[in-house]
Amino acid sequence: MSDRDGFIWYDGKLVPWRDATTHVLTHSLHYGLAVFEGLRAYNTSLGTAIFRLQDHTKRLFNSAHIYQMEIPFDQDAINAAHLQVVRENKLESCYIRPLVFYGSEKMGVSPKGAQVHVAIAAWPWGAYLGEEALQQGIRVKISSYARQHVNVTMPRAKVASTYANSIIANAEALDHGYDEAILLDTDGFVAEGSGENIFIVKDGVILEPEIASALTGITRSTLHALAADLGLQVVTKRLTRDDLYIADEAFFTGTAAEVTPIREVDRRIIGQGSRGPITQKLQQAFFDVVNGKNAKYHHWLSKV
Ligand code: PMP
Repeated sequence: MSDRDGFIWYDGKLVPWRDATTHVLTHSLHYGLAVFEGLRAYNTSLGTAIFRLQDHTKRLFNSAHIYQMEIPFDQDAINAAHLQVVRENKLESCYIRPLVFYGSEKMGVSPKGAQVHVAIAAWPWGAYLGEEALQQGIRVKISSYARQHVNVTMPRAKVASTYANSIIANAEALDHGYDEAILLDTDGFVAEGSGENIFIVKDGVILEPEIASALTGITRSTLHALAADLGLQVVTKRLTRDDLYIADEAFFTGTAAEVTPIREVDRRIIGQGSRGPITQKLQQAFFDVVNGKNAKYHHWLSKV
C-alpha cells in the first residue's frame, strides 16, 4: 500500500504518497488509540461523488470526542479535504480512509502531550468480499471470540483498537474455511460482523440486532431508509445465533462490504442458499442510491 503514486492529505497538506510516513514510536501504533472512517466515492450519474460524506465526518468527530482526542481541524475542512484527495488522485470511484492518530512526541499510556494528526488516503477498491459474494452470498462462522463489552471499547467510536478483536475473529473464520465472522456480544446475542452490520429476513420482516455492542453503521441507516421506501418493516431486537440459523435471508451491510448476502451460517444453509429476494431488492436499491440513480437521495452524494 505504501509504494504507489498519488497524494495523501496529511495535516492540511497534500503529500506525495510515498512520503506520507510516521515514526515507529508513534503513540497510536503502540497503544491502539486512533479513530478512523471508511467511505466510498462512486462514479455516479452526477459525476464522481462521495457517499454520505458529512455523516462519516460527523462519526469521525464523535469517535474522537468519545476518546477525548482534539482534532485540529473543523468538520468543513475535513469534508473539503476528502473531496480534494479524490480529485487530486484523479479517482473515479474509490475507498477513502481518514485516520486520526497520536504522534511520536511521547510514550506511556497517557497520550497527553502527543500531537493529534489527521491523514486521508484514497485508492481504488472493488467489492470487499469479492464480486461473486455480492451475487452468490458468503459463508460465515459465529466466532468463538465475543465482541468487546460496551465498557471495554466503546462501540459508538470507530476506534483502531476494536479491530484487534475483529482481526482475530475474521482470522478464525478464514482458518475454518469461511468468508467472514459474526461476533456475539458478551451476553451471547448477535452483535455484528468483523467489519459489517448484520440483518436477517424472517417471514417478510427485516430484523436486526440491537446495536449495544456494534458500530452504528451508516450503511445500516441507509438500509433503514430503503426498506421504508420498499414498504418493508425493520424490527430491531436481540437476536440469538439460532435466529440466524432459521432465517429466510441474511445479509451484511458496510461501506466496504456494501450489501453482501449471507448464504450459510455455521454450515446451516440460509433460505435457498443464495441471495434472497428481499436482499436482492435492497441491494439493487442501495446501488441505485450510491450510483446517483435515485434523485430522492442525491443529497447523500457530495460531488468531487
Ligand atoms: N461494524 C464494523 C465493526 C465496521 O468496521 C463497519 C465498517 N465501518 C460497520 C459495522 C459498518 O459501518 P458503515 O456502514 O458505516 O461502514
